[in-house]
Amino acid sequence: MSKPRLATLWLDGCSGCHMSLLDLDERLLELATKADFVFSPLVDVKEFPRDVDIALVEGAIGTDEDREKILKVRERSRLLVAFGDCAVTGNVPAMRNPHGTCCVLARAYHETVTESPQTPTENLPRLAERVCPIHEVVAVDLVIPGCPPPADVIHEVLTELVAGRMPDPARLSRFGQ
Ligand code: SF4
Repeated sequence: MSKPRLATLWLDGCSGCHMSLLDLDERLLELATKADFVFSPLVDVKEFPRDVDIALVEGAIGTDEDREKILKVRERSRLLVAFGDCAVTGNVPAMRNPHGTCCVLARAYHETVTESPQTPTENLPRLAERVCPIHEVVAVDLVIPGCPPPADVIHEVLTELVAGRMPDPARLSRFGQ
């Protein structure tokens, strides 16, 4: 029987959730015997593949590019897991929402800069006016709360999912409290 195809990616976040994933250490090797990592910052594949069984997505939707990516991920994945508080609630990236994008850019690149203040624009995705959690754009099958979620929780969730079982969402929600 073929192994489940597992993908992980980050959108607008700090990559801390993926650092927690790396804290699985040798348990990642054990997982690799039960699932194929077909896309991840941990592997060298540039295009999100088709026929993904489990997609673990860190971070909120903060740019037009994030929105395009999550639509593609949703279309190509059987299960989409919102991975960490930024994906689940908007969390840190959404802290800019009450102030507005222009205000935040002005503060970061003009008001606090003494030499040649300018807002970078080249080769950068356009910031959305409002950062939102993943479920506001596409359907999410499971959430893993936490900032970041503990490695033991990630391990438990992935072990269940690659075995074809859905973890208990009520049990997971307690980790975010
Ligand atoms: Fe970083 Fe926390 Fe957001 Fe994860 S949930 S991307 S650790 S800020």
